[in-house]
Amino acid sequence: MFETETLETVIKQSGILGTRSPSASGWYTVKCKVCNDYKPRGGFLFENNAVMYHCFNCGHTAGHTASSQKFSKGMYQVLTAFGVDIPTARKTLFASFGQHPEEETDEERESRLALQPPTPIELPEEFEFLNKSNPDHAQAIMYVESRLVDYGKYGLMVSNKRSGMWHGRIIIPMYDRSNRVIFYQGRSYVGSKDRWESPKKVPKLNVIFGYHNLDDTDRDYIIVCEGLFDAMSVDGIAIVGSEFSPFHHRVLAQSHKKKIIVPQRDHRGYAMALEALDCGYHLSFPDIGQAKDINDAVIQYGRLYTEQQILSKTTASKYEAQLKLGIWCSS
Ligand SMILES: [Zn+2]
Repeated sequence: MFETETLETVIKQSGILGTRSPSASGWYTVKCKVCNDYKPRGGFLFENNAVMYHCFNCGHTAGHTASSQKFSKGMYQVLTAFGVDIPTARKTLFASFGQHPEEETDEERESRLALQPPTPIELPEEFEFLNKSNPDHAQAIMYVESRLVDYGKYGLMVSNKRSGMWHGRIIIPMYDRSNRVIFYQGRSYVGSKDRWESPKKVPKLNVIFGYHNLDDTDRDYIIVCEGLFDAMSVDGIAIVGSEFSPFHHRVLAQSHKKKIIVPQRDHRGYAMALEALDCGYHLSFPDIGQAKDINDAVIQYGRLYTEQQILSKTTASKYEAQLKLGIWCSS
């Protein structure tokens, strides 16, 4: 007898649930592969031929109904992460809809890439490390010192060219976990109208600045910053692009450190802060007067005070955070 395949059978046959039986509420608990969790905080629920997935660590949520003609972005990420054979799954589920099971759609490709680490790149040869004994670097060094950043620690660079888009800029290289360069940005120290420049042909997707701060064992918390100078002045990390990607959440979810975010004081900061709360990060509303960001606060009040404020004024309560965000993001 011919029996219609459902995603439930595909998942059960793929073996990712092992020999588990569901909880009283029907959830099959698993270690989430989307965030590569070390504890079983993810779960599948099968109901009326529909599949639900949720992870309490990274917050990833996905669904699939029997009438779906393709996988949603979120479900595609779940199935890819758990190693389900996608072409076969597609053939069994969507063949009747006239789909091409072997081909990955643009949307699927995009959702798969959203979970992938950036590709290593080469730095342009014109870049050189800031060096106190080089008189050509004096102005650049004065600039970074005025922003209380340790240029040696962060390997800050300048261009040795007398013109071009990188001239007059502090180059901030960014590395992946294996210390390979994946991106860089240049901050003008000569008052250029465009304060920041990014390389034109390198994708910005999934870049995280400050992996070594995330991986150090000295502190049980990490300050997730919006700006690179903010991150450098408190040894935090920065999400380049000011929008979390699934990859960012995955990397952060793998760290046992308490994640603290000082929201940016505008509507974009508001949205990002709410998303952060949903992922279990803490928000902080430090008493830093009129300082416009973390780096500015470090310059005005010192690192010790700023960091102590950030640590002591945290909340993970959605109710409290929403009350505070309203004021914080409009002042
Ligand atoms: Zn997860």
